[in-house]
Formats: sequence, structure tokens, C-alpha cells
Amino acid sequence: MISVVVPCFNEADVILETYRRLSAVLEQERFCDREIIFVDDGSHDETLLRLRAIQTEDPKVRVVSLSRNFGHQIAVSAGLEHSSGDAVVLIDADLQDPPELIPKMVSAWRQGAQVVYGVRRDRPGETRFKRFTASSFYRILNRLSDVSIPLDTGDFRLIDRCVVDALCRMPERDRFVRGLVAWSGFVQKPLHYSRDPRFAGNTKYPLKRMIGLAMDAIFSFSSVPLRMASWIGFAASLLALLGIMYALVVRLFTDAWVEGWAFLLIAMLFMGGVQLFFMGVLGEYIGRIYAEAKGRPLYLVRERLGFSNDDIQSEG
Ligand code: UDP
Ligand code: MG
Repeated sequence: MISVVVPCFNEADVILETYRRLSAVLEQERFCDREIIFVDDGSHDETLLRLRAIQTEDPKVRVVSLSRNFGHQIAVSAGLEHSSGDAVVLIDADLQDPPELIPKMVSAWRQGAQVVYGVRRDRPGETRFKRFTASSFYRILNRLSDVSIPLDTGDFRLIDRCVVDALCRMPERDRFVRGLVAWSGFVQKPLHYSRDPRFAGNTKYPLKRMIGLAMDAIFSFSSVPLRMASWIGFAASLLALLGIMYALVVRLFTDAWVEGWAFLLIAMLFMGGVQLFFMGVLGEYIGRIYAEAKGRPLYLVRERLGFSNDDIQSEG
């Protein structure tokens, strides 16, 4: 059985078309059973109404409605926890990732790959700024993190049940799903494709959320920012030592001495800035530890449609 997980946040304009194209594609895979799980991530437009209508028409469609907007990565995780297929396909609701590629993913999976991830060859319809920030983000992340996370790869992918189970066992809150998948290993195969423009509606990832995702990725997959504090502290001490020697030499061997309050002030402000910056870095890690320590559930479900009772293995 193949499950398709579609996170939706205010996607009323596209959801019907998404469903049509998905079910047309899945129709071709007649050899296996299938389900489409729409995760409504607390939309405040007509998304849920439309999903309900789709669900009453098609018994293969299941809907999980979260109690509020928890964010894309958590919506995806909720979908994974509700899936029961032997392979799960993650796809965005906005049709930027063509559903027509799913059969290719499935055949790569049948040939033994446990993860087939889509690599974006180009992304038309997205601003230069977004493409530039996205591509530099993936490169910086790879430099910093200990696991190698494939470049230019979104969440559009097929994952085998064994990887899904591994993901569901990872309790962490600040989830960066593609990193967690990369971390889990197994046989991972890329599938190159070019991304389409959004079918309708606007991006749900404004700059603020993009930064949030990037921070989650970096702080969950790297402790390099912490180590940077040591290096910069070391460099600053070295600089200070040179300064002290210079001041001593000038004072002892000439008639002049180092003067100027401006220099003093700049040096102090510089050190203050560096210290505050690294306190912020510490704060990021501590905040994440705090969130983990509270142990709140990842998400809450308001409503489930199309599931039988024993389909549901876990909550949050
Ligand atoms: N999404 C979500 N919750 C959110 C934000 C986004 O479920 O809080 C979904 C959204 O409906 C879409 C997918 O995540 O299916 C990707 O979002 P979007 O296409 O806006 O991001 P972009 O492709 O612009 O990076
Ligand atoms: Mg999109």
C-alpha cells in the first residue's frame, strides 16, 4: 500500500486540483492499495470544508485536522504518524512538485531504494531572492552539519515504512524532516526534476518562516555555532595580547604612550557585541532544550475523517 501525505495550510484554491491530479496518478498504480492523507494545518479558509467534501466522495481519502497552525514540518510529521502504507510519499499541496513523478519514485523504491528524494533542478516562478537564499542555505547547512543533507532537496520524497517508523520514533520538536530522513541513512536515491510554479495562492513561507526553518535546521543538526564561540574568543584574546605588547613596548621604549578613548570604546563595544551574540546562540540551544524538557505533544488533532479506529496508532 502507498500513502500520500499532503500538508495544507490555507490552500482552498488548489486543493481540488491537487486531489484530482494525485488520484489520477495513483490510479495508474493499480497493483497496490493507496490512501491520500490531507493534513489540514489549522487553515482559516475553506480548505477543511473542501477536504470534507472530497473525503465523502472518495473512501481512499483521509483527513487529519490539527487544532491550530503548527507549521509545515509538524503537519508532515502528523501525516506520517497517521499513514499506514508500506511507502509514504510527501508532497506539497501547491502542485509545485509534480505528482506525475510519483510512479518513478515508486519504481525506484521497488528496485530497492528506501528513500527517493526529489532534487530541484530549477525552480521557475520563484523570486531570485528565494532561490538565492534557498540555495545558499542548503550549502551552509551542509558545511555545518555532521550528517550530509542533500542539496536543493525539499520534502517531496518517497520513504519506506522502516524509515517512517524511525521518524515517528524521533520525539524532537524543532523538526527538520529532510534532515531527520538524511540522518536515518538506509539506501537513499535522488530523483532530479524541475519545480513548477505554484498552481494558485501565495507562498506560506514568508521570510520569517524561512529563517525559522533555517535556524531549526542549523541548531538541530550542528553544534558548530557553539564551537565558534571558542574560536572567536581565542582570536579576540590573541588580538588583545598583541595590543598589550604593543602598548607596553611603546610605553617602555619611547616617550609616547597609546592614547585615544575612541579606540577603547570601539574595542569594548566589539567585545560586548561578540559576547551578546554568543549569549544569543547559547539561548537558542537552551530554548530548544527547554521546549524538549516540557515534553508537550507535537500537535493536537481536532478531527479525523476516514480512519477506522485501529488505524490510529499514536497521538501527538
Ligand atoms: N504548509 C503547512 N503549514 C504551514 C505552512 C505551509 O502545512 O504552516 C504547507 C502548505 O500548505 C504547502 C506546503 O506546506 O502544502 C509548502 O508550503 P509553500 O508551498 O507555501 O512553501 P514554498 O513552496 O513557497 O516554500
Ligand atoms: Mg510551495
